[in-house]
Amino acid sequence: MHLDPFELHRPTTVDETVRLAREFAGQSDYLAGGTDLLPNYKMHLNVRPHLIALDRVDELVGITPERIGAMARLADVEREPTLRAGFPGVVSAVGEIATPLVRAGGTVGGNLLVETRCFFFNQSYFWRQSLGFCLKADGDKCHVVPQKEKCYATFSGDLAPALAVVDAEVEIAGPEGRRRVPVLGLYDATGDGIKRTRLAPGELAVAVHLPKASRGRRASYRKLRVRPSFDFPELGVAAAASFDGARLSSLALAVGGLETYPRRFDALTEPLVGETLTPERIDKVAEEIRRQVRPVHNTFLAPDYRKRMAGVFVRRALGDLGPSSGNAS
Ligand SMILES: Cc1cc2nc3c(=O)[nH]c(=O)nc-3n(C[C@H](O)[C@H](O)[C@H](O)COP(=O)(O)OP(=O)(O)OC[C@H]3O[C@@H](n4cnc5c(N)ncnc54)[C@H](O)[C@@H]3O)c2cc1C
Ligand code: SF4
Repeated sequence: MHLDPFELHRPTTVDETVRLAREFAGQSDYLAGGTDLLPNYKMHLNVRPHLIALDRVDELVGITPERIGAMARLADVEREPTLRAGFPGVVSAVGEIATPLVRAGGTVGGNLLVETRCFFFNQSYFWRQSLGFCLKADGDKCHVVPQKEKCYATFSGDLAPALAVVDAEVEIAGPEGRRRVPVLGLYDATGDGIKRTRLAPGELAVAVHLPKASRGRRASYRKLRVRPSFDFPELGVAAAASFDGARLSSLALAVGGLETYPRRFDALTEPLVGETLTPERIDKVAEEIRRQVRPVHNTFLAPDYRKRMAGVFVRRALGDLGPSSGNAS
């Protein structure tokens, strides 16, 4: 596997970065740590001739208790004391990503915008050619759900669900100016699964904003994977809650690693505000989520097993939040 030649651009400001993306519309990708993009390029997955490197754009770096720059390295988030104290679920999820080496190079923006995964897609060009290409790269059919013209590749980032449950927002800069969206607003859950985000052409993730109101919430991130030292999630459950005495004053739960997009289950958690988090209520939420999720057969573990484990992991993540248990991983 080799990298085809590309032209590298190295802007220093957000405006210049967005201008370059507009100039090379449809012909460029942003390059952050490269830990996802460059292996994909080596497998000849949707290669583009221009790469716009983000490493010299000052505005994208830095971590404060309220803001994480898109180019912040995952390893720096993991080490940051103010985040460990204020957003333990986020730090816990980051600690579960890949390996220390990948976390040293991978960035927050790159993890939120990581390409979706499927075992018919994350393969070399020759492997894919021998089977017949698929909708997501070079082909016209899906090998997983052939009767549909849609891609079901799995969203495999650990960070997005953990940020979603603390109501984090992503600041985006683009040709039309700046805007902010809730983290899950990045993903186009109604789309064809091929274009995985709602970002308009040339839009750039600048930073993640962490609301003051969410700081100090009890939080948990529970991850199912094959090799605990290394692998992408086969399922990731994030939960966060605050309590007024024994009663919930907020509760949010999000699931990733299971379907094409991470999602929150507000319709199940919001009615519990004002209640105590009893084992019976936890069981009810867990069972309903198990019923609702629809993994397909495109990762290592069988979809029936992942679906069943969704219930188990929701039960564990909510159990971690109990008033007496404190923050858990
Ligand atoms: C061996 C291995 C194991 C892994 N295991 C896990 C795991 O367990 N959990 C997990 O969550 N991830 C896992 N990953 C994925 C890893 O976390 C991502 O590769 C990393 O977070 C991507 O960050 P990056 O900075 O390298 O992004 P890049 O590879 O540089 O970019 C990734 C994508 O995001 C786009 N992009 C990057 N930054 C921006 C921005 N600011 N604005 C707009 N678009 C942007 C790029 O154009 C590209 O499409 C694994 C990766 C490897 C190699
Ligand atoms: S889900 Fe289908 S279209 Fe998407 S990557 Fe897999 S085989 Fe390709």
